[in-house]
Amino acid sequence: MSNSWYEKTALEIRDAVRAKKVSALEVTDSCLKRIEEVDGKLLAFIDVWADAARKQAQAVDAKIAAGKDPGPLAGVPIGVKDVLCTKEGTTTCCSKILKGYRSPFDATVIERLAEAGAVFPGKLNMDEFAMGSSTENSSIQRTRNPWNLDCVPGGSSGGSAAAVAGHECAVALGSDTGGSIRQPAACCGCVGIKPTYGRVSRYGLVAFASSLDQIGPFTKDVTDCALVMNTIFGRDPKDSTSADIPVPDFTKALTPAVKGLRLGLPKEYYTDALGAEMRDKIQAAIKVLESLGAEIVEVSLPHTDYAIATYYIICTAEASANLARFDGVRYGYRAPGVANVDEMYRKTKSEAYGHEVRRRIMLGTYVLSSGYYDAYYLKAQKVRSLIRRDFMDAFKQCDVIVTPTSPTPAFKIGEKTADPLEMYLSDIYTISVNLAGIPGLSMPCGLTASGLPAGLQIMAKPFDEETLLRVAYTYEQKRGFEMGMPAALRG
Ligand code: GLN
Repeated sequence: MSNSWYEKTALEIRDAVRAKKVSALEVTDSCLKRIEEVDGKLLAFIDVWADAARKQAQAVDAKIAAGKDPGPLAGVPIGVKDVLCTKEGTTTCCSKILKGYRSPFDATVIERLAEAGAVFPGKLNMDEFAMGSSTENSSIQRTRNPWNLDCVPGGSSGGSAAAVAGHECAVALGSDTGGSIRQPAACCGCVGIKPTYGRVSRYGLVAFASSLDQIGPFTKDVTDCALVMNTIFGRDPKDSTSADIPVPDFTKALTPAVKGLRLGLPKEYYTDALGAEMRDKIQAAIKVLESLGAEIVEVSLPHTDYAIATYYIICTAEASANLARFDGVRYGYRAPGVANVDEMYRKTKSEAYGHEVRRRIMLGTYVLSSGYYDAYYLKAQKVRSLIRRDFMDAFKQCDVIVTPTSPTPAFKIGEKTADPLEMYLSDIYTISVNLAGIPGLSMPCGLTASGLPAGLQIMAKPFDEETLLRVAYTYEQKRGFEMGMPAALRG
């Protein structure tokens, strides 16, 4: 049997495993070997769980041997962003402050995927506490882009994107607060979805900005995305913000049919900020959908210009509250040799948090402080309502909104680290989706002249992931190219 199981999609793996054409153990071994071969270049994994993964695979094989149903993701290797609590290994958000922290429980998504027969090869690198767009804020390592090892993989879920694009695992989990699934998916050339707020339980997701955070998958194609959504979506009594809305079988939405569907193009997104090459790629993708009968309508999202400012007030405010718990008392790192409790807090936090996390905590504390609360935080909440209303109005004229995912392809490592504002602008097209709470998906729409993936973003009405998937699937079927093996890993 072929030993290149690592190259297969989740669907191919689970079908083959269920049909006993390959054992889950063989698939796992193929994936572990692949990690051994390429992760020295990519640095996507921060911890590989070879023994645990093999045991999980053997349990799937045992179920099959006993004639039991091994689940809809039988034997599929799924990498896990280090922001999700797992009983296996440590959960650190790639922060020194959580170094060595072991979670006593699994996040709900992990439980559901395990139940569905998935195998977990290990934990993936990320920007510290998911704050960043390049994965360079990790306290552990700098992940590389599989298409060009000198470039970043995007972020904050850069490890997840690089691992899937580099064929180290069929699927990976990420989290998206302002773009952290879609932007790295775009940079690395894979599919990534930020579900509607409330679709996926956040239980066991270490909180960054609770009103914006959602968990979602990175996959090699749209079909795999639907498969994983079937398993992780749905109400969880452990997360009161998870929505009690029925979860359809998303694979049924995978039909190439966009005739009569209205694609909205927001005029505020197609400005000079978007480079010519990116614009051409997006327009070519839109042409494909148009040639299949989709209708193009120009829409307006008039408050787009305020999205970044609004996001950086709300997310920092929430982060400053959420991160208060990491105080050196209950979890992880504690500064040694301190004289009193005040010094302990001060030293622990300033020694263990990186620059970006400290910047966010300070900004968040500032916008929440008395005298500034009304001017910043309250105002931002009001603008957030206007941004959501923009989308609801636009969706009266269209069924989905189609935009670029990111204004540029992946940039060079170190290129934007000196200028946080430059870095924040990477998310100019993704942030509004989180503020509005709607679903957004990124998928590849080609390679630039320098060989880097370009990402197409599709947004839909709240809880209308089915229409979103239908458009994505149609484009994928008809776009006329395969992403294939990333350049830097060929040969
Ligand atoms: N890059 C954005 C930020 O730094 C988004 C991060 C995310 O979605 N977790 O906040």
